Amino acid sequence: MTVYCLGSINADHVYAVPHLPAPGETLAATGLTRGLGGKGANQSVAAARAGARVVHIGAVGAEGDWAVQRLARFGVETDHIAICDAPTGHAIINVAPDGENAIVILPGANMRQDAGRIADALAGAGRGDTLLLQNETSHQAEAAALATASGLRVVYSAAPFDLAALGAVLPHLSLLVLNAVEDAQMRAAPGRIDGPEIIVTDGPRGAIWRIDGQTLSMPAFPVTPVDTTGAGDCFIGSLVAALDRGLTRPEALRYASAAAAIQVTRPGTADAMPPRAEVEAFLARA
Ligand code: ATP
Repeated sequence: MTVYCLGSINADHVYAVPHLPAPGETLAATGLTRGLGGKGANQSVAAARAGARVVHIGAVGAEGDWAVQRLARFGVETDHIAICDAPTGHAIINVAPDGENAIVILPGANMRQDAGRIADALAGAGRGDTLLLQNETSHQAEAAALATASGLRVVYSAAPFDLAALGAVLPHLSLLVLNAVEDAQMRAAPGRIDGPEIIVTDGPRGAIWRIDGQTLSMPAFPVTPVDTTGAGDCFIGSLVAALDRGLTRPEALRYASAAAAIQVTRPGTADAMPPRAEVEAFLARA
């Protein structure tokens, strides 16, 4: 089975700051690290590290070849990543000493997806495969419609939350994933969101999966976080890979929670995603 991920690819610039900046405040950072990020790239890497075959569909600018090479080194298939005439997406990530973060993103090439390239990438896909989407690229609804028509499971993380974007993909979704903030935004929106199964993640408070009026709960594993950036992406990529290899929902939730718990104990986003063997060893000790 294959996980197709139409997703953002960003250069992450991560600044260590004494606290998250207040409006109008100028703050001296105490450190800088640079790496591969973007919700799409993070989720692709998490799924590949968890053992899935992952085909990434995306776009970078002329200077973005390093990002494609990084994805390939993590085992992600990159044939459907285009080089286009826009800057590679990038993110400015401030991380406070308690691991909390605040993020500014330039979408750049991520908004230059192409319907033909998406159709090419999904041409060989079928029942049993998964399409993973986030709200950081163009063409989400077109991809979701194509995937549904071919019988794929469609998983969407509504991040950053946008009601119109969610509404456009909603009819095609098998699973919607939100963090607690996005869940509150959805509940505050007019009208009722009906349809897919929904997972809500809530940091150290764990995650719940709502299915047809029933709820599966998974507490977070107790760890000491150093950087929570990308925890949600690690959780989603790991969960999809676990479902892809036939784990049940409770098993997949447990696997994803363990992977994310490991991920928050180290700095970085894509670079911090744990491999399957490490997650299984963690679970064996838990
Ligand atoms: P991001 O910081 O990337 O935006 P998010 O807000 O999308 O993350 P969270 O809800 O913070 O996602 O975290 C996703 C999952 O990761 C949680 O449901 C939990 O399983 C795990 N997790 C996050 N933070 C912690 C933590 N401090 N300790 C243990 N597990 C955690």
